[in-house]
Amino acid sequence: MKNFDPKYNNIPKTEIHCHLEGAIRTQTIIDIAREYNLKLPSYDVRELDTHVKVFDQLRDLEAVLEAFGIFQNSITSPAIFERISWELFEDCAKQNIKLFEVRFSPDWAFHGHDLDWDACLEGLIRAKDRAEKEFDMAIGIIAITSRGMGAESCVKTVDWAIRHKENIHAVDLADGELLYPMSDFVKPILKAKEAGLKVTIHSGEDTPASAVWDTIHAFQPDRIGHGIHSIEDMKVVDLIKERGITLEVNPWSNYLTNSVRTIEEHPLKKLFDLGVRVTINSDDPEVLETNVNNEYRIAHEILGMSMDDIATCNRFAFESSFVDEKVKQRIWQKYFL
Ligand SMILES: [Zn+2]
Repeated sequence: MKNFDPKYNNIPKTEIHCHLEGAIRTQTIIDIAREYNLKLPSYDVRELDTHVKVFDQLRDLEAVLEAFGIFQNSITSPAIFERISWELFEDCAKQNIKLFEVRFSPDWAFHGHDLDWDACLEGLIRAKDRAEKEFDMAIGIIAITSRGMGAESCVKTVDWAIRHKENIHAVDLADGELLYPMSDFVKPILKAKEAGLKVTIHSGEDTPASAVWDTIHAFQPDRIGHGIHSIEDMKVVDLIKERGITLEVNPWSNYLTNSVRTIEEHPLKKLFDLGVRVTINSDDPEVLETNVNNEYRIAHEILGMSMDDIATCNRFAFESSFVDEKVKQRIWQKYFL
């Protein structure tokens, strides 16, 4: 559930793992459907919520696929992409998020309506510039290449991100680690790295510690999305620490998708206590009906992290953030010190 308890809401926050495609407000989906004549299972917010949100631990994958299908179909034009970006930044500001990184998969998000990638990025940048000014926050942009879209899509996405590296800070390899072998993606991701982009990889979410081990050796990533199953093998935990890799952890998401059996068993605090640089994020705040405040509530009230521990996670996020050094420093000194 989204949380606005002042205890969490009032503290300045960071978020470095958030998918734009999983962050579209339900009312906006309805507005877009009306404007573009799209079919929806319902045009009532509460009723549509049952189709686009996951409220309970997942019993079947179909529900999420239906939700993401609706989200994908809602990205109908560069102007709409700008609107949903702006609304996400607005939702960040409401929770006092001051350092934020947004990620999206252009090939997945834009192929449904065959949109021009550059025009969509321009819309996102306009929303970002406006939000940075209006809310005094720092925003970074990450381009995702989705494993499920294939090797060719990975090459296309990386080349596009390199072309826009003035505005795109990093690439992320996301989606179905279990289903697609990493070999197809190593070359393009390393090319992105060589071109000066930062790299984060979704790994160890629903895969064992060995997947994280292989990911680190193959991609030399700066950060890892999730990585929670590293806890099962101390060799992997040690490797993460040795390389100074930051984990982008999303507790409620991990519970809803069955990556952990119960929320109480989530290894966030254990990893933190072992000295791993963990950060606390929301993943898909609309689909999963969460926000960073809620993730902090879980970390503090269920997993037993102190508010100081949470502040340390903010520092890890700041230190590993892909946002330009000068830009993030200014925000850090103004709001976090
Ligand atoms: Zn993710």
